[in-house]
Amino acid sequence: MTRVFLFLFLTIAGVLQAKPLSVVVSFSILKDLVQQVGQDKVQVETIVAPDGDSHAYEPTPFDVKRIAQANIVFINGLGFEGWIERLVQASGFKGPLITVSKKIHPRSVFEGRLVEDPHAWHSVQNAIVYVYAIKEALIEADPDNQAFYEKNANAYITRLMALDESIRRSFALLPPEHRKIITAHDAFGYYGNNYGIEFLSPVGTNTESEPCAKDIAGLIDSIKRLKVKTIFMENITNPKLIEQLAHETGAKVGDVIYSDALSEQTGPAPTYEAMIRHNTDLFLKAMQEMGNQC
Ligand SMILES: [Zn+2]
Repeated sequence: MTRVFLFLFLTIAGVLQAKPLSVVVSFSILKDLVQQVGQDKVQVETIVAPDGDSHAYEPTPFDVKRIAQANIVFINGLGFEGWIERLVQASGFKGPLITVSKKIHPRSVFEGRLVEDPHAWHSVQNAIVYVYAIKEALIEADPDNQAFYEKNANAYITRLMALDESIRRSFALLPPEHRKIITAHDAFGYYGNNYGIEFLSPVGTNTESEPCAKDIAGLIDSIKRLKVKTIFMENITNPKLIEQLAHETGAKVGDVIYSDALSEQTGPAPTYEAMIRHNTDLFLKAMQEMGNQC
């Protein structure tokens, strides 16, 4: 009889132990970062899907349910998910709510008032800070697998450091006057600061802000004066404004870049690393074309 109980106990304990942590994240880029560290010990769901716009997202009753059932929730912070507080409150979730940007030095921009730019992940150095925060939170929630999370995080950080260095090297030979890129919204400020590129865009850090005619006229002047040949559409933004800019300046519309969301699995940016490489290749090509023109 005792053997039967022991068998049952070990079976139940085994099942409980094997069950992955239920993790909810706010957007797809964060899903990949958590997945890289947690691998098969986590079951990650994202609220905003690939190719989705987190700025303009409207939560659903399904999101309330998902958060209520989670063991741990990760968000970007810096005002990126303006809807998260109400959503968490509605779900009654009392577990750990981790803001991965907490140790980032935020970039501030003036948009009628001073606002913090939430797009910190586009600097790979900041993504490394995110990974440390994710690792610590997973260990706190699931200390039995500490060594597993540490090993995965260390391997991932090593790859990210190499990626950061390779981006720096690829831009190093370009003269400063060619280091200009036009995108649909101001999502690449951290990328620009880290890798020495100037980004210009018709709208600010939030896709929901309306572009004003004076700013657009100024941007058209800059595109002509700087002889920018390519302007970029983002996977999450409406193409109209970029098409209008291209039409008025004679620049061409470049391939889609990925700003606030990954692509679907079959697209060119299904992971964070793939997204950074894809964007970098397109930026590099556009800047080299500026050089060929002179
Ligand atoms: Zn954005």
